Amino acid sequence: MYRTNTCGELRMTDVSKEVTLAGWVQTIRKFGAITFVDLRDRYGITQLLFGEQLNKELEENPPGREFVLQVTGVVSERSNKNPNLSTGDIEINVHSFKILNKSAVPPFTIQDDTDGGDDLRMKYRFLDLRRNAVKKNMELRYAVNRAARNYLHQHGFMDIETPFLIKSTPEGARDFVVPSRMNPGQFYALPQSPQTFKQLLMVSGYDRYYQVVKCFRDEDLRADRQPEFTQIDCEMSFVEQEDIIDMFEGMVKHIFKEVKGIDYTAKVERMTWEEAMWNYGNDKPDIRFGMQLLNLKKPSSVYTSKKDQPGLINGAGFKVFDDAETVLAIAVPGCSEYSRKQTDELTEWVKRPQIGMKGLVFIKCNADGSYKSSADKFYNEEKLKAIAIAANAKAGDLLLVLAGVEERTRKAISELRLEMAERLGLRKANEFKLLWVLDFPLFEYDEEGNRWVARHHPFTSPKPEQIATMINNNPVIDNAADYLKHPYANIKANAYDIVLNGNEIGGGSIRIYQRELQERMFAALGMDKEEQQHKFGFLLGAFEYGAPPHGGIAFGFDRLCAILGGSESIRDFIAFPKNNAGRDVMLDAPSSIDKKQWEELQIKPNLK
Ligand code: ASP
Repeated sequence: MYRTNTCGELRMTDVSKEVTLAGWVQTIRKFGAITFVDLRDRYGITQLLFGEQLNKELEENPPGREFVLQVTGVVSERSNKNPNLSTGDIEINVHSFKILNKSAVPPFTIQDDTDGGDDLRMKYRFLDLRRNAVKKNMELRYAVNRAARNYLHQHGFMDIETPFLIKSTPEGARDFVVPSRMNPGQFYALPQSPQTFKQLLMVSGYDRYYQVVKCFRDEDLRADRQPEFTQIDCEMSFVEQEDIIDMFEGMVKHIFKEVKGIDYTAKVERMTWEEAMWNYGNDKPDIRFGMQLLNLKKPSSVYTSKKDQPGLINGAGFKVFDDAETVLAIAVPGCSEYSRKQTDELTEWVKRPQIGMKGLVFIKCNADGSYKSSADKFYNEEKLKAIAIAANAKAGDLLLVLAGVEERTRKAISELRLEMAERLGLRKANEFKLLWVLDFPLFEYDEEGNRWVARHHPFTSPKPEQIATMINNNPVIDNAADYLKHPYANIKANAYDIVLNGNEIGGGSIRIYQRELQERMFAALGMDKEEQQHKFGFLLGAFEYGAPPHGGIAFGFDRLCAILGGSESIRDFIAFPKNNAGRDVMLDAPSSIDKKQWEELQIKPNLK
């Protein structure tokens, strides 16, 4: 037997038992004739005491850091107890030991505060995973996985695996492709998600499906994306949007309870996509704090609002506002006393290329009721006050105003809002706020192709009352500049996202389940009959054999874990992640393949 106990297990109640432990050497300390070793395994650390009688043996066979050691000895009470360690009251008085395996000197210390940089840790990820900080993340990931599975099992969901070597499933990204040796010149695609399979399973009658599943998307990796990532993918039959919301709100709350011990009893807020865009400038707002946007110009037709305030800035001759497509403001609480240096710094912040604004206008709502602005020349105090009131600013607040083209300005102000909240400590890692964003647009305008693309994916159903708009209007966009006037721009989908602290953690939709409507949808996306048949013949065919009404959702499992673990980075919650260039630096993948492999695949390498 290699061990009788783990290194995290022994307590005072075990004193005087003889035990055998096995693990890795964390530290070795010599005090005169005595040697202390901290032995580590997945469960914890136990102190070992090697007395004088073992000195000779230790000298002949000295263990080093990360050696795999097996010891037998007696559990004893420690004279110098360590309250920070669960085993800190005891130590093992070793009477024999064996080195099970040696270790090279690790390239970084296996500690919470390691001296290893990111690249080094990724190269030696198997050592990094030994660190407690990383192990905790893996444990949390498993806890989330378990909680989700338990909940779904309790609710009658069945885990059904779907294939990885498939034909492309469009989710808006590029496919990874795999050449088929047996079918020269032909390729499989790796699934961007199991979307079409889970819909086929509904046709097959498996009315509650789930899978914790890998998805593959060949995207240029923006910060904190992985080319392969994991979804908790779910689908249900005979459901409406409300049923899905109910079921999966329940799942997230169950996960909160199981993993974090949090009773999420508050009602989960809901807003429409338009409200989100209007009030927060993006479709996944962090609603742990206010600072809602004030729109000072009439917006484009997609955004509607009851509280737009176009009059407030008109007629002052301020070119920055007059010439801008969009003028947006936020009231930052308690910052009216910002110094010149601070407002200058903020101006620089919005001018950074990632934000891309030309400048920043501010209005200080002073505690004494007066107003001061960088646009004083154009707006008298009365006007400044009116703007401040419209933005919900209170005495002591700082109003920040951005002006420019619609999309960029909206994006910029929503970034600025998050930045200010971060600076003010309003984005607390241990505060969780869920939100459903509903009624997404069905289509998105693709500038490059001057055409419509599916905002979620082409299987999402339009709002029933807007089906006629889709069917009765030609999808062709005659005037690209005026695409917002096209009837398609206003068609809403039965699609929903669930947002946690400003992150989309899940999204889904009620699906189209009739062949004719699905064909209309494909046609609206510019696919002719032949292409439809080639790409989705299997699905259209299946819809002819009694497809039930159905809908579903998929959760970004890695992201959910990262948020629950209080981290910004999903990489910390993936055992073997890739870097920002999509490389696995440990495996050194992707890599070239040898000549024989090329030949077997009958593909010619395009090498210079
Ligand atoms: N397959 C979708 C996605 O990956 C989710 C869904 O519609 O269920 O975003």
